[in-house]
Amino acid sequence: MPESAAPPTRGHVRHADGPPAWRPVVGPLIAIALLVAAAVGAAVWLSILDERRQEQERLTLQAHQAALHIRARLVETEQLLLLEGSAYAGSAERFRRDMAELLQVNPALLRVELRARDTTTIVAIDAPPPRPELGDAQRARLPPETATAFETAARLNRLTYSRPYYVRMGPTGFELMDLVVPTGEVDGPLIVATYSTQRVLDHFLPAEASRSHLFSLLEADGTYTARQSALDRDRSGQFAISPLARTGTTLQVRVDALQGAPRLIPNLITALAAAMAVGLGVAMFLLVRDIRERARVERALREQVQFRRAVEDAILHALVVFDVDSRVVQVNAAMCGITGYPRDALIGRAQPMPFATPDSIRDYQAYLDRIARAAEQDGTGDAQRARGFETTYQRRDGSVFPVLVVESPVNDPDGRLLGRVLIGVDLSEQKRMEELARRQQEELQQRSRLATLGEIASTLSHELNQPLAAITSYATASDNLLGASPARPDALRQALRGIKSQAERAGQVIRSVQAFLRRRAVDRGEVDLSALIRGLEPLLRLQATRSGARVVVDVPAGTSVHADRVMLEQVLLNLTRNGFEAMADTPAGERILEISARPAEDDERGARIEVTVADRGRGVPPEALPQLFSAFFTTKREGMGLGLSLCRSVIEHHGGQLRYHPRAQGGSAFAFDLPRDGEATPETRSRAPARAVR
Ligand code: ADP
Repeated sequence: MPESAAPPTRGHVRHADGPPAWRPVVGPLIAIALLVAAAVGAAVWLSILDERRQEQERLTLQAHQAALHIRARLVETEQLLLLEGSAYAGSAERFRRDMAELLQVNPALLRVELRARDTTTIVAIDAPPPRPELGDAQRARLPPETATAFETAARLNRLTYSRPYYVRMGPTGFELMDLVVPTGEVDGPLIVATYSTQRVLDHFLPAEASRSHLFSLLEADGTYTARQSALDRDRSGQFAISPLARTGTTLQVRVDALQGAPRLIPNLITALAAAMAVGLGVAMFLLVRDIRERARVERALREQVQFRRAVEDAILHALVVFDVDSRVVQVNAAMCGITGYPRDALIGRAQPMPFATPDSIRDYQAYLDRIARAAEQDGTGDAQRARGFETTYQRRDGSVFPVLVVESPVNDPDGRLLGRVLIGVDLSEQKRMEELARRQQEELQQRSRLATLGEIASTLSHELNQPLAAITSYATASDNLLGASPARPDALRQALRGIKSQAERAGQVIRSVQAFLRRRAVDRGEVDLSALIRGLEPLLRLQATRSGARVVVDVPAGTSVHADRVMLEQVLLNLTRNGFEAMADTPAGERILEISARPAEDDERGARIEVTVADRGRGVPPEALPQLFSAFFTTKREGMGLGLSLCRSVIEHHGGQLRYHPRAQGGSAFAFDLPRDGEATPETRSRAPARAVR
């Protein structure tokens, strides 16, 4: 397992699953908004109330000041008339002159009269223009209000104002009010000064006062006697009243506030509160939008993570994701199933991994070394990395299983390392099946090869036949040499040596057949093919001479195979013998037997050598092909039909295959393949169990 992981750089493989840490807070936000709105409303309401109170105070002051102004002007005239009255000594002329002056300076006065106690007019002066309605004839009799005031003033000897009264003049009319002032004389005349109340209002008030307010004069019962013109809808509804406080009259000054521009933001607090409310609204809008956006992104992310996890879990092989610190950040369901560790037991684990074995640690290091070496050559080492490595992992229960591991780095788009992904393929089942197939194959071969004792006996006798035949030939030759003249001791010695070597070979045959039958480990090792054929040459020559054929050997020097030398010799001798025998009917010059060796064509790795023995004989008829390799199949009068069957057993026992090919130019080719030396196959690697065949 990754004990010496690649050096971390930056970044991590992150998790984005689980419930979102952030929850929408719309409810509390709405509550806060309502609270702020209520506070703002209250502030505005209080502020309006305060504004009204201030306005009321202003109005009261205005009314008071207006009353003061009017009273001051009234008092001024009162003083003047009192003075005039007290100074009056029957000089009508002087009175007329003084009053004319008075009328000039006091535009509110329309007429001044001097009346005797019985109200008859002594002198009367009118302010221009002439007003017939106020003429002497019309005023011969005093209006009732004035008559009452006249009577009071005369009786109490003090000045008195009459109640206002209306006199029609032209299309409209005048509201009038009379001031009755007694003269200093006992039972003397009284001065009656006639005011236009409207003129009082128009001329006795300072001009600037009436710009923002509306002034009027009214009686105690609320009847207007004079008012500044304005429509009722122009009034704000707020007003104040102040009495004129002159003897005999209940007139009051009323001040109405006019409607100004709507004052939505009456003061700073309201403005601030409103700004806060607007700010809060904007903040809430942004927040809600942000909440929605975040919720959407979170949902998308969650779905993505779930999808990724589903994909990972759908993978049948184990998958482990490490971060840059070689900590496990993700495992899939297959990994948990194969190792028996729950997800939680693996997530967050650092090295060493709980499923690592000493083998896996060593193998992983070797894998990294191989990748590093490959990277030096091809720049990436990717091909080597993709091959992975076979090793063992440990399950939670302690059992060990074979696994093929491939590891890849995870990089971000900028090429920075984020982590690593490991994929493990559980080889347990595959290995088990391979082992099963191998055993079955072995048993099948064992059974089919040597089924009966008779077959074994036949095999043995067949194999011994050749050395014995050779010995017979040598013995015959020796006998002939003994009788030869001149004596040829060298040739005789060579024949005797041949006898000896064939006898030894026969012994070896017996031993190797025994070993083979007992299924002991056969004596395999490096066999130099060309050397082996050279050793067989005397026998081959003997066979060739007998059948008048030629042997052509095409075996490159140094071609070595991994095999049992004696068995291989048997195979070659069997095939060559069959080849020679098959060429009995071939024209003498064409009897050529070829022995060749070359790397097997269908073996890309070049790990196997194919050996071919080809003749130019009659070939195998098609009908004989199905049984060609069966024991006891023969077309020869003295044949036993065991040679090919035995050859096939031997070759298959070496993990190879014996095949027959008809040759294009006529004749047969028997080819078999053997592992090159140093390329032991699983079959040749495994040792057969040492048990006797029943
Ligand atoms: P035997 O040689 O005792 O017959 P083998 O098993 O060696 O037993 O051969 C079986 C049969 O296969 C032979 O009888 C022969 O008909 C056929 N055979 C073997 N080798 C050749 C060959 N080179 N050419 C033609 N036929 C062959």
